[in-house]
Amino acid sequence: MAKATRVLYWFRTDLRVHDSPALHAALALNPEVLYPVWTWDPEYVFSHRVGVNRFNFLLESMHDLSAALTTRSPESRLLVVRAPPQMAIPALCRQWKITHLVYERDTAGYAAIRDSEVVKRVRALGGTEVLAVHGHTLYDPQRVVAANHGKPTMSLASWRKAAQGLPEPERPLPPPEKLPPPGDTDLGDAFTRKNQPIGCDTDLNEDTRETELHCYDHIAGPNNEFAIPSMDELGLPPATTSIYGGETEALRRLDAYCRDKVRVATFAKPKTSPAEFDPPATTLLSPYLKFGCLSSREFLWRVRDAVDEYVKSNGDAKKSKPASKPPENLEGQLLFREMYYAAECAQGINFGQVRGNSICRFIDWKLPNQYAADGSKLVPRPRGNAVDEERFQSWKEGKTGFPWIDAIMRQLRLEGWIHHLARHSVACFLTRGQCYISWERGAEVFDELLIDWDPCSNAGNWMWLSCSAFFSSYYRVYGVKSFPEKFDKTGKLVRKFCPELAKFPDKYIYAPHTAPIDVQKKAGCIIGRDYPMPILDDKLEKERCISRIKMAYKKGYHGDHEAVLSERATAELEGAHDKGSESADRAADSGDVGEGVGDGPAGSGIGRGGEGVQVDQRSRSDEQGTRKSKRAGGVQNSEGSSKRRKTDRKVDEFFSKK
Ligand SMILES: Cc1cc2nc3c(=O)[nH]c(=O)nc-3n(C[C@H](O)[C@H](O)[C@H](O)COP(=O)(O)OP(=O)(O)OC[C@H]3O[C@@H](n4cnc5c(N)ncnc54)[C@H](O)[C@@H]3O)c2cc1C
Repeated sequence: MAKATRVLYWFRTDLRVHDSPALHAALALNPEVLYPVWTWDPEYVFSHRVGVNRFNFLLESMHDLSAALTTRSPESRLLVVRAPPQMAIPALCRQWKITHLVYERDTAGYAAIRDSEVVKRVRALGGTEVLAVHGHTLYDPQRVVAANHGKPTMSLASWRKAAQGLPEPERPLPPPEKLPPPGDTDLGDAFTRKNQPIGCDTDLNEDTRETELHCYDHIAGPNNEFAIPSMDELGLPPATTSIYGGETEALRRLDAYCRDKVRVATFAKPKTSPAEFDPPATTLLSPYLKFGCLSSREFLWRVRDAVDEYVKSNGDAKKSKPASKPPENLEGQLLFREMYYAAECAQGINFGQVRGNSICRFIDWKLPNQYAADGSKLVPRPRGNAVDEERFQSWKEGKTGFPWIDAIMRQLRLEGWIHHLARHSVACFLTRGQCYISWERGAEVFDELLIDWDPCSNAGNWMWLSCSAFFSSYYRVYGVKSFPEKFDKTGKLVRKFCPELAKFPDKYIYAPHTAPIDVQKKAGCIIGRDYPMPILDDKLEKERCISRIKMAYKKGYHGDHEAVLSERATAELEGAHDKGSESADRAADSGDVGEGVGDGPAGSGIGRGGEGVQVDQRSRSDEQGTRKSKRAGGVQNSEGSSKRRKTDRKVDEFFSKK
């Protein structure tokens, strides 16, 4: 008689039952039992900076998933095992006589390394087959990388070219109607102290905890019920966000957004306002995509259907707006996500740092990561120069004295989400715009505070914004006053998140330190006492940053260069700056602006020369994000850029056919 199939389904990036190719693959095995397991991994509890809002979102999503499982099988629910998966999964496979371990494949960062260790250990047991099924993105990043000859996709154009031979994302799968029950959940002696060591040398979330951590007191939780941990057990205070987790909420939000067909069909990212927050101008679906509460195919096809309906119903209406196109439309937004996933997949764990990262330009940022002689990262990071540390802290806490920056950083802390162009503003300010502080520090703060934090999109966008990779027009800097004024002259976002400034007249809302003292008194807020003076001279620092980056570009080192690995590069650049390079003409003459690869900032509109952006006239990107390479003063396009334009055209044609 054939052996009964016993599945351990390991939930990780797929907290949903709709459109789950991995869950479908598990059910196609016709299992007698299916154990839905989540491992509560100490890596995320101690070694990642995870703030209260992301933990809370995760716990809510786990509860929602558990309820969805119970609806499909009264005996089923999410079984949370509180141990490192490298230990827990093999132990469970042995104890529960698992014939198949099934999960959604995760190609990113720590997860990829963790999984290869888990698989190695499970295979060593013998008797358990492993099925890792693609499902987190529209295209399988590994296949995209293979099509791109193993190289990272450094622009949307190169990503599109690599993906064009791959199968189109299919329509989403329906949720299963029924699930098999889990089998006996007795743990016997599967877990001993030896195979479940919980602990850490450094608890990066120590400062956030208000009480002692208890979530690892029992391997299967209190009363051995495999319960979902609580914020209390994590020692954390309640969340502050108004964003609820879970598949149910994800589908409700998607429904609500797609109901307005005109908005979906004419969505143009550069025109969405970062100053809108209630409701925001974009979908706010990123947290749900991150945890897999929403499948990217469900998102894609709902959007495509809405656009089709719009086009059909407006076919004869000559006056109606045409549907927008990638990359500025909603489908285009998903493609940026795809591009970063594929780039990270090719680059591996170094994608999240400068050192060893061959795609990342070396710039002598302040407060970079620091490493021991053996190459291991120093955690916690030793303190740097006092002025830089103070600037970094002010940025992080929303106390820079620049209301637009401060409002965004406070919104981020409170809500765990900010608009894309708001992310642009604060990332540019911290790095190449004003503070010259390493993007690694900014990415770390986003890691702590964003609900949607994702190792691919976060590091990728930080490299983009700091002109370390993907984008190279470092002389284009967001104005701290002029940029927000472009979207909202009344300062709604500032009034909401910096309430001490709420009574300032519109004229001074983005620069209250310029208000006469009687205006400050009338507003009930004295600058320098009730709200900080600006921590720096934004225009002066902007010029300094540009000339320093120009010098770093001239050196041309990347993160894997010997000079970077030996830490010689910083001293070399210091020397170059000392030789009077600070006064170097910032004109970016031909060849200084890197290879010119990449598109304009992801839907930023920064290249459009809008009045709110301090734009150099030499090089611009259009709203499609493709480089036009038109240089002022009659300078001809370089041969390289005209070749790139041909490629862009080809891939655009390809996409418009799809
Ligand atoms: C410095 C910086 C850091 C970022 N860190 C993250 C991160 O950790 N996680 C994350 O999901 N996004 C990140 N982004 C990208 C982007 O800002 C967010 O995905 C977007 O703002 C989420 O809001 P939304 O769901 O309303 O987006 P929408 O405009 O509604 O877009 C729909 C979806 O497309 C995807 N998307 C849109 N723009 C991008 C982009 N540029 N890169 C990758 N995916 C994109 C997201 O999944 C998003 O939910 C970052 C951007 C910057 C500039």
